[in-house]
Amino acid sequence: MNLDNLYQEVILDHYKNPLNKSLAKDYDVQVHHINPSCGDEITLNITLTGNVISKITWDGVGCSISQASVSIASDLLVGKTLDVSESITEEFMDLMQSKGKKSGNELVLEDAVALAGVSQYPARIKCALLGWMAIKDASMQASNK
Ligand code: ZN
Repeated sequence: MNLDNLYQEVILDHYKNPLNKSLAKDYDVQVHHINPSCGDEITLNITLTGNVISKITWDGVGCSISQASVSIASDLLVGKTLDVSESITEEFMDLMQSKGKKSGNELVLEDAVALAGVSQYPARIKCALLGWMAIKDASMQASNK
């Protein structure tokens, strides 16, 4: 199995068995983000405990890239401090802007490196970033509360 196939498996697995996809009733902030160019939509609830993201839950519809990416991001960023979450998100954005030239640091991005290939398709980058931007937005709002 080559790397592309392996990465497709990871994306498909998150799409079919999404993590944290069940909106929690208690949360600090709820955001709703859409990607009109593709029709992707997510609602995301976040809870902070001090400066740690203690809970991320979401629900959504859309393409496999958008849904897999929010599943990956919600799993990766929960339990992280706001600072760490922001630096991981920046690293993912940097990967998405790499036009296929970077493969991503798996030690930092874990399953998110499976989305590296998306950076070659400008139209799909917004799909991949949707969940990350929702988490960034929600955690900023929650930390300003
Ligand atoms: Zn999409």
